[in-house]
Amino acid sequence: MRTLGHFINGESRSGDSARRHDVFNPTSGQVQSQTVLANKSDVTLAIDAAAKAFPEWSSVNPQRRARVMFNFKSLVEKDMENLAKMLSSEHGKTLPDARGDVQRGLDVIEFACGIPHLQKGEYTEGAGPGIDLYSMRQPLGVCAGITPFNFPAMIPMWMFGVAIACGNTFVNKPSERDPSVPLRLAELMMEAGAPAGVLNVVNGDKEAVDTLIEDPRVEALSFVGSSDIAQYIYSNGAAHNKRVQCFGGAKNHMIVMPDADMDNVVNQLIGSAYGSAGERCMATPVVVPVGTETADKLIEMLIPRVKALNIGPSLSETADLGPMVTAAHKKRVADYIQMAIDEGQDLIVDGRDFVLEGHEDGFFMGGTLLDNAKPSHTSYKEEIFGPVLQIVRADNLDEAIALPSDHQYGNGVCIFTRNGAAARDFASRVQVGMVGINVPIPVPLAYHTFGGWKRSSFGDTNQHGPEGVKFWTKVKTVTQRWPDDVLSSEFVIPTMK
Ligand code: NAD
Repeated sequence: MRTLGHFINGESRSGDSARRHDVFNPTSGQVQSQTVLANKSDVTLAIDAAAKAFPEWSSVNPQRRARVMFNFKSLVEKDMENLAKMLSSEHGKTLPDARGDVQRGLDVIEFACGIPHLQKGEYTEGAGPGIDLYSMRQPLGVCAGITPFNFPAMIPMWMFGVAIACGNTFVNKPSERDPSVPLRLAELMMEAGAPAGVLNVVNGDKEAVDTLIEDPRVEALSFVGSSDIAQYIYSNGAAHNKRVQCFGGAKNHMIVMPDADMDNVVNQLIGSAYGSAGERCMATPVVVPVGTETADKLIEMLIPRVKALNIGPSLSETADLGPMVTAAHKKRVADYIQMAIDEGQDLIVDGRDFVLEGHEDGFFMGGTLLDNAKPSHTSYKEEIFGPVLQIVRADNLDEAIALPSDHQYGNGVCIFTRNGAAARDFASRVQVGMVGINVPIPVPLAYHTFGGWKRSSFGDTNQHGPEGVKFWTKVKTVTQRWPDDVLSSEFVIPTMK
């Protein structure tokens, strides 16, 4: 059985631990390899390597660090097909979707290529008599990223792209369910010219994460995953005096106004609800038609589209969606569908019995459509993270705005309408971090920032964009003067005269 170990100090390592986690091929349902789950000692070695590499890497000038990012970008582009196949065969998302996962990470690397400009400080000449004031953004030291299974290329690159370009060294602890891509990215980073120890990958579970939290040499932690773990890492990381940002789960709503172009709504919704088998934090698992006529029309148009979803093997170029990541996750999603039925929702399309011919043991599930979900239902309150779309009916825009605003999660939301005033009002009032107007998956580009509200995010800085640079650096402010004369003592707090 092939084992997937760690990447520490520029080398692949199998580590000390005998603990293993099965990695499946979701299309066949078979175990294809095993991830080594690191012991504390393995993680400590990775932190040692990152700590040793920091003084030299942080003193490399920003332009040369940017050149490593340029090289890395071109190496990832050359390796795109290999990375996409690796990703798709462990995660289950289709090959074109896997390429998108890599590309959205590369967008952040492109942003990080501008680090000489982004990391510049500020300067005030003559802030007082003979006094200048300037600030600089310095790297933090050893930083760590704990990443989820659903974007094994993009999310590690969101984090280490900006952190490393800023002069930090990094330890990535990817998901044990699909670790091959993060390991390969670390190899490519070395090939691109980053010194050994600048980017390390340790595979593991809670033991590895707790080691990263507790080691005083780790200055900052970034996490993306489910909300309970996000909250655990946020509060424990802060208790260990670290800078922490943690991004959690989601339950994104699409509001459909009576004046929306319904062909457009259905075309966009079918992709955002069921693409990647719904395993996206910016998927659309809830649709809110406003008014009975809108709801009836939407359901009539959705039913044939959900039934006609093209479900295929993950390496397919043409399937709409592939299998789910594991049998355990598939069961969890099926249990939520049953819960929704038990709570009184109407099952309009049932995807639970779907079997793909020739891949009977794969973790496939068809699209499910449920009507009449209510805010009090547990299956509405919680994240399902599968190919399941719930309809919650609203009578007017106010009711529609209240649904995502009152929900525990606040990652993404969107409105489909032809009315600019309604869209503007919605964007202003809704209590959610990322808003789409006639755009179903409003994931901001790399030079803006990504982050939700409420239980979708713990901490106060977003991923990438200027906020990413802020998170991965600390500000030092210098007040200087070079007096010709001897200055008199001052006992009153200095004010600029
Ligand atoms: P997860 O929370 O199970 O795992 C995320 C990471 O935490 C993994 O590296 C995992 O090994 C680690 N982990 C798991 N249990 C742990 C524990 N007890 N202690 C310490 N670490 C632990 O999440 P997942 O299933 O890999 O990913 C799906 C989740 O991520 C969904 O909830 C999804 O909404 C969320 N997500 C959020 C965003 C966002 O930006 N808000 C983006 C992508 C995914």
